[in-house]
Amino acid sequence: MKTLNDFDFKNKKAIIRVDFNVPLDENFNVTDATRIEAAKPTIDAILAQGGSVILMSHLGRPKGVEEKYSLKHILKTASEILGVEVKFASNCIGEEAQTAAKDLKPGEVLLLENLRFHNEEEAGDVNFAKELASLGDIYVNDAFGTAHRAHASTTIIAQFFPTEKCFGTLLAKEIESLNKVLKNSEKPVTAVLGGSKVSSKITVIENILDKVDHMIIGGGMTFTFIKAQGGKIGESICEDDKQELALEILRLAKEKGVQIHIPVDVVAADDFSNTANTQIVDVTAIPDGWQGLDAGPKSLENFKKVILDSKTILWNGPLGVFEMETFSKGTIALGDFIAESTQNGAFSLVGGGDSVAAVKQFGLEDKMSYVSTGGGAMLEMLEGKILPGIAAILD
Ligand code: AMP
Repeated sequence: MKTLNDFDFKNKKAIIRVDFNVPLDENFNVTDATRIEAAKPTIDAILAQGGSVILMSHLGRPKGVEEKYSLKHILKTASEILGVEVKFASNCIGEEAQTAAKDLKPGEVLLLENLRFHNEEEAGDVNFAKELASLGDIYVNDAFGTAHRAHASTTIIAQFFPTEKCFGTLLAKEIESLNKVLKNSEKPVTAVLGGSKVSSKITVIENILDKVDHMIIGGGMTFTFIKAQGGKIGESICEDDKQELALEILRLAKEKGVQIHIPVDVVAADDFSNTANTQIVDVTAIPDGWQGLDAGPKSLENFKKVILDSKTILWNGPLGVFEMETFSKGTIALGDFIAESTQNGAFSLVGGGDSVAAVKQFGLEDKMSYVSTGGGAMLEMLEGKILPGIAAILD
């Protein structure tokens, strides 16, 4: 796996695919610069060696050229974070970009305009990729969030750099963290899978059954498993057509020696609302008119034991409807258990969508070993897919 360490960037121009798809307010101010900060280590390392940097990214989902999606809006913030004045080319290809790239001196940074102003980006157009490639000497991919897309700047461009290509620090860390969980993991390994639906997690479940010792299944998925086994789930969310699949997963887990842990009690509510009446009930005996919206105290006790005994933990998906305070306690408690286990030496990876949002919301981010930056990309990796953006560098 080639990283920045494999190259000498002195007097070289690195063309880096970053993910600067940051949120902007109505005055085009950056409201969350996490993604720019995340790319800083890679940029700093190259500049420190006497290289120069050409940054390319997308912003939003523009249809052709749309002023509001211009990356010029982020120039000020990027310059502040990087500590150098970031130059700008108002088109990512063509003469202006060519000249700006050619004139770039060691220590300087150039940001190209939104790649998605050209349809060719998402279409993975080879000629467009070639034009981008002509701007730099070494291609660096540091955008995990788009690594599962075979776009021109994330994948196709790599073919124009037969050997001069590598992963940036951020992307390398994502791959390394996932490998720590799925490949070189210290046992016991526990995966916590929550979220709303079995159907959206099934491929992940199937793929990681081979790699874990324990699997905690929570959130809305619980009820498909409980109903399939004959439990009474009231009005809880359930995918009836996935009941067979749920039983198949339980059977497969037994065969593979994976211990499955499902909530035994839940916080049931008489309405899908933060102000609903609630009661703790057995997960197999939810009264009619009530629905399970969070894991109950006995379940959390069980999960705690498993988590504290684990040496490797993967967390994807909340244990309840954490967006509503009344049903957030299970997810918060789980986050606390993982934090405690991490402090005791376990490796914990949080990734894939809503659990990342939960971890941030509850201030647990710094207590996890690694919090992934790419929702969809992380999910696809957990599903066992080879991401095109990663494959293109390894090629
Ligand atoms: P996912 O995107 O599949 O990870 O699902 C995340 C969503 O699942 C969150 O918005 C949660 O509110 C929701 N969720 C978690 N537990 C439940 C539950 N018991 N009933 C309904 N929705 C749930």
